[in-house]
Amino acid sequence: MPLTVAVGDITQLDVDIIVNAANEALTRGGGVCGAIFRAAGPRLIEACARAAPCPTGDARMTPGFDAKARWIVHAVGPIWRGGAYGEAALLESAYHRSLERAKGAGATSIAFPAISTGIYGYPKEEAAQIAVSAVRAWRALSKTPEEILFCCFSESDAEAYRRELGKAPRC
Ligand code: ADP
Repeated sequence: MPLTVAVGDITQLDVDIIVNAANEALTRGGGVCGAIFRAAGPRLIEACARAAPCPTGDARMTPGFDAKARWIVHAVGPIWRGGAYGEAALLESAYHRSLERAKGAGATSIAFPAISTGIYGYPKEEAAQIAVSAVRAWRALSKTPEEILFCCFSESDAEAYRRELGKAPRC
């Protein structure tokens, strides 16, 4: 199944797993995190407290509670500090660890937001390039989850993903 780009609110998607752009403490934040906590309801706060902390580059999984998705994967991307602090490897790892969790759960579909590109300040084009290459690398190793979506909050963010997906995979 091809990698696809969706535009809109990730909490409205019809998928097994939505990925949260989380912080290490797995506490409620703004941006996509705030939207996911709103959709999942108060039980998510407690489940996240039990699963915390989560180091940067790693991911934890909780039920989706009142959200449409069955599970939520909380992936911690890096805070952008100029690019010389291992940010790219940490961002790639956040995608990879999320997909490992999804496969472990037997999920067939997963949607990622543009991790780290909001409050954490990662440049959007570079983040899209890493997201696409991380997911392609996963796809080369595993067929599951079958459906992998990139959920963008704006049409211009989606364009960056479409450009990346249109390029041949890097070796
Ligand atoms: P981070 O702290 O990892 O930077 P943010 O939530 O601030 O996380 O931003 C990550 C990305 O999620 C940004 O590109 C932002 O525009 C996008 N975003 C915000 N709200 C939503 C939502 N409801 N659905 C999908 N993406 C969203």
